[in-house]
Amino acid sequence: MTHAMRIIGRQFVMGRTIDEAVERGAEAERKGYRHSYDMLGEAARTMADADRYMASYGNAIDRLGAAEGKGDLFARASISVKLSALHPRYELAQRQRVLEELAPRLICLAERARERGVALTVDAEEADRLDLSLDLFEMAAAAPSLAGWDGLGLAVQAYQKRAIHVIAWLADLARRTNRRLPVRLVKGAYWDSEIKRSQEQGLPGYPVFTRKASTDLSYIVCARAMLDDPEAFYPQFATHNAQTLATILTLAGDERTDFEFQRLHGMGQALYERVVEQSGRGIACRIYAPVGSHEDLLAYLVRRLLENGANTSFVNRIVDDNLPMEAIVADPADVVRAAEPKAHPRIVLPRDIFEPDRANARGLDLSDEATLDRLAADMAAAGSGGWEAAPLIAGRKGEGRPSAVFDPADGRCQVGSVIEATATQVDAALESAARAAPGWSARPAEERAACLDRIAGLLEANMARALAIATREAGKTLPDGIAEVREAADFCRYYAHRARKEFAAPLELPGPTGERNRMSLVGRGVFVCISPWNFPLAIFTGQIAAALAAGNAVIAKPAEQTPLMAAFAVGLMPEAGIPGEVLQLLPGDGATVGGRLVADPRVAGVCFTGSTDTARAINRSLAAREGAIPVLIAETGGQNAMIVDSTALAEQVTVDVIRSAVNSAGQRCSALRVLCLQEDVAPRMIAMLTGAMAELRIGDPGLLATDVGPVIDREALDGLEAHVERFSREHKLLYRATLPPETAGGTFMAPAVIEIDRFDRLEREVFGPVLHVLRYRADRLDALLAAINAGGYGLTLGIHTRIDANARYIAERARVGNVYVNRNMIGAVVGSQPFGGQGLSGTGPKAGGPHYLPRFANERVVSTDTTAAGGNAALMTLGDS
Ligand code: FAD
Repeated sequence: MTHAMRIIGRQFVMGRTIDEAVERGAEAERKGYRHSYDMLGEAARTMADADRYMASYGNAIDRLGAAEGKGDLFARASISVKLSALHPRYELAQRQRVLEELAPRLICLAERARERGVALTVDAEEADRLDLSLDLFEMAAAAPSLAGWDGLGLAVQAYQKRAIHVIAWLADLARRTNRRLPVRLVKGAYWDSEIKRSQEQGLPGYPVFTRKASTDLSYIVCARAMLDDPEAFYPQFATHNAQTLATILTLAGDERTDFEFQRLHGMGQALYERVVEQSGRGIACRIYAPVGSHEDLLAYLVRRLLENGANTSFVNRIVDDNLPMEAIVADPADVVRAAEPKAHPRIVLPRDIFEPDRANARGLDLSDEATLDRLAADMAAAGSGGWEAAPLIAGRKGEGRPSAVFDPADGRCQVGSVIEATATQVDAALESAARAAPGWSARPAEERAACLDRIAGLLEANMARALAIATREAGKTLPDGIAEVREAADFCRYYAHRARKEFAAPLELPGPTGERNRMSLVGRGVFVCISPWNFPLAIFTGQIAAALAAGNAVIAKPAEQTPLMAAFAVGLMPEAGIPGEVLQLLPGDGATVGGRLVADPRVAGVCFTGSTDTARAINRSLAAREGAIPVLIAETGGQNAMIVDSTALAEQVTVDVIRSAVNSAGQRCSALRVLCLQEDVAPRMIAMLTGAMAELRIGDPGLLATDVGPVIDREALDGLEAHVERFSREHKLLYRATLPPETAGGTFMAPAVIEIDRFDRLEREVFGPVLHVLRYRADRLDALLAAINAGGYGLTLGIHTRIDANARYIAERARVGNVYVNRNMIGAVVGSQPFGGQGLSGTGPKAGGPHYLPRFANERVVSTDTTAAGGNAALMTLGDS
């Protein structure tokens, strides 16, 4: 592997240091080529890394400046810069901070480049950073210190649907700032990630074209616009595609040389030999020359391997002997014209990636400023302060004395009020549900499924209101809130889909002696659904949707902390067609409401998500009852670990660990609690992790820039603080965030990282933003796995390794619910989100985990034409199956 890496590295990377690269580039320069050097290593996670990249770019600029003689700026070597390397939080959510901190960095580098006579190009990265990159570029273009300098350039990706508009905007910027912009036109290197990201986030469409020919055509359209405007642009056409290149030469005509081509080091040599060295037309070509040592290569190499390996790539197709040349060089305009439909039929819209009757839940594009403006207005319109929750029995609101519900981010702020259910109301709800259950079960499954689909639609339509409540009542940040609503909607559609599949028509069973055996599923009766506050909409709705889909009447008891969200969800249900008698809502405390419900013999089943202790109490209470034995479906917490071996990529580990352990303020049952680091890499991992944590913003969850909101209440906070205090004393505190002053009014917990020496130091789950780190020796992996298994319960386990055999070894031995493996193929995947939301990648239905719908139902076998008397055949068949 090392040998292979070395070969591939040498093929695509110019040198380990700028000196080595410049030296290696000398020969090509003698043949007439130019270079643009790129210091590899991207996406800094910490300020220290960003500083390091900044210094290395600065150093490279000095080195290039020293090597160059005077003469035309464009004829000299230039530098290419990735903005993601210069700031650890280069993302739209941190816009203000990025403009304040990253813009000066870019300008500083550009000033240095100007001084040294070296042109600078800003590389193009992911589509969700386009707007922000244009803002930054505009600031640099407007900087007085760079006035009149033609060396400031930008890369534009033609595969983006916005490409031609970006070109138009740049032409305008060039005129406004009175300069000529070198613009590198590329097709784009992140296509796979863009497609996946849009699908994962349930966006309305894709930011990139879905047909290769559309990208090629967009490239030509942009190229023409640039060639037509020589005052605004110095065009730089980066392509390895001979057809694209030939088209541009044709568009430019025989006379023009006021543009250049660009190719990547290690690619397109033969093509450009013909154009630069043999054509005699004086056409220039610049070679993009990545510089870096082996630790920094991976992301870049993965993109190159993807490009060379993709069956749509020109460089891949040209070496395929089975393809006719006419197909390879076909005019993209003809191909697009002939294509019907215009979008690629096999790349369905993000909404349609599941089964035909199950739409992907609609998300929001938080990188789109127009979407953000609309969302802000809608959330404000949803109000706050006046939300109400009360018992709902047979569609009627229960009476009682309301008590106030406060904002966990600011305890002085009342967000609504709740009337808790009395014992009489509990009895009334039981009676109503018991009466309604048979009728609901008798309704065709299709009708019940259609109701659930409508709930999903209503949840999506009321997204802003749900987000407002999630933020103010549960302290959810906006991305967490969106994931929550989407998961709730998806639960509805998922169970609707299963109901159609499993409840609509009876299953024909074998009839060995000529009888007919038909099995169908029917509701059990009354289900009590008891849900937690940490997913106040998703789990609340998921439990109800499953129970309703299976034909049960439901009594929903939300967590004491989040009745307003429950009232919001139940409030949508009549419009979706769920009769009031079929679904009752009983806000209230566990002992009065929950205890009474669970003890009642009319309850046929309980669905519970929450602590193991409460699950045990419910189990005991159900077992103590006379009469039919009820069913209990319980999902409880776990001691979740992540194992990171020495092959893992620190940057990827950092992203996943923070997302898992600290997002949602660590209040997910799937959240990472114990990070197990192979000791050889632990120091570097810990440094990067704590450095990245220092960049997180803690505060009002209603602000887009906030990463960590409050924990749910005072009791939770006190428990967490006590844990950190004790563990800091008994073990080693590696990092503790400081809370900003504006968090003083709420129940905020400063994230902490604590090193422990043994897995079993943790006696129970610590439900908050507290990460424990445990070092392990590679030859003691088995002992670590034994310790994890001895922990008794693990909902999730993350594995970061580049060695498949390691991942398999661990996955086979760990006794946990869900295993998530991240193979660290950056560029190839969006990031595995090992412990992401509950639904998309967590324990929910999409994970393909055990689906428990049939447990909500009794199996009933209807046997006809039996040869044995009394239905024995049916029993036999059931036994057999
Ligand atoms: P072709 O094979 O003709 O085209 C490949 C393009 O088609 C890719 O963009 C691919 O994503 C796209 N494609 C493939 N399938 C489809 C489909 N079904 N629908 C739509 N599109 C499809 N890339 C960046 O992102 N940012 C940069 O800053 C950047 N800088 C570069 C600098 C230089 C000098 C060079 C040469 C390349 C740079 N690249 C950059 C990489 C560049 O995007 C790829 O090398 C380029 O896409 C290859 O284009 P081509 O014309 O050589 O190949």
